[in-house]
Amino acid sequence: MRYPPPSVVPLDRILPDEPLLMMGAGPVPIPAKVAQANSIVINHLGETMNRVIEQVKAMARYVFQTQSGQILGVAGPASAAMEMAVCNLVEPGTKVLAVCNGYFSRRLAEMAERCQADVVILDIANGEPARPDEIEAAIRLHRPTLLTIVQGETSNTVWNRYLPEICAIARAHECLMVVDAVCTLSTMRLDMDEWGVDALITGGQKGLSSIPGVSLLAFSEIAWKRIEGRNAPMAQWCLDARLADRFWNKNSYHYTAPVSGIMAIHEALRLICAETLPARFHRHELCSLALQRGIEAMGLELLVKEEARLNSVVGIKVPDGVSGDDVRRHMSQIHRVEISGAFGLDILRIGQMGEQCHAHTIFRTLHAFGSSLKAHGAKLDLPAGVAELERILTEGQVV
Ligand SMILES: *Cc1c(COP(=O)(O)O)cnc(C)c1O
Repeated sequence: MRYPPPSVVPLDRILPDEPLLMMGAGPVPIPAKVAQANSIVINHLGETMNRVIEQVKAMARYVFQTQSGQILGVAGPASAAMEMAVCNLVEPGTKVLAVCNGYFSRRLAEMAERCQADVVILDIANGEPARPDEIEAAIRLHRPTLLTIVQGETSNTVWNRYLPEICAIARAHECLMVVDAVCTLSTMRLDMDEWGVDALITGGQKGLSSIPGVSLLAFSEIAWKRIEGRNAPMAQWCLDARLADRFWNKNSYHYTAPVSGIMAIHEALRLICAETLPARFHRHELCSLALQRGIEAMGLELLVKEEARLNSVVGIKVPDGVSGDDVRRHMSQIHRVEISGAFGLDILRIGQMGEQCHAHTIFRTLHAFGSSLKAHGAKLDLPAGVAELERILTEGQVV
């Protein structure tokens, strides 16, 4: 043997004594039931696992609002689910219209390009939602058979609020809709069947409040027919939906399923079903609104105008003369609350996804945020912000 073992310390000497409250753009805190489920390993095939899978699919149908027979999971980040949707629906030369609002919608475009699609990028103006008329014009001009879009662009906190109208236009032109709902699923309405979404993608670690690394997606009947009828062989083996169908729908083997992560997502979905979607949407709407108004009442400015503003992640402009990185460091070290910066924008982002979205978490976060900004030179009225938060939450009766 050439090499000795490395010298390392146990995990508890690396992890902080008191965990940080994760209020950034993901991953988000997980409920205790999800954490417990995530410690379970059983055989990935057999009766017990089959029952778990059937329930995961049934609950995912509720959360996706679909009757799709093609709910699939993937051992991988949300990006793997994005890639699975794209690479199964794209053949070399497939015309794809990639609607780009920011970083994550760009990723879908890049994935389509890597699958040798003929990709037309439609860049949406900064801070704006994609508008139905511009999408219709682009569809008429380029005649795509696939359109990729995000419901919520986590990177710059823009909400594509006209998604239902855009789906209807795409359907009228026989163009399939691939929708990334990683950040938004279960935080706001998304009716897969009613709207006509053909591939719906989500990850574990955001709206669902499960662990990162196990993701779900669903295909519509039309999308599944296209996949079954595709001519070009799939270059990807793990992401081949027809192989994944063996495990997810036929009780047989594809690859060893991420058993613990599936248990975790089972519990996350079960908690969502128990809360019900309408109650969950109300909680997100109200908590996020209260946080936004509280931030404004302190004297700060939000990045995106109200019409296009995402509820699930809030983007706040960093005041002049203040370093966003210093504020985040102060929040983590002193208040043990973690929030996010952004890719290339001078903003701070506070997540409002799933477990991040409760009265007690946003009070702690707003206080930590305001007092860290003050410590780094910002002039603001912290009590006014906290009072506004309290006022809106009390009126809306959310806990
Ligand atoms: C976080 C995020 C992703 C990527 O998720 P990973 O698990 O990091 O791959 C994709 N799309 C959106 C909208 C996201 O918010």
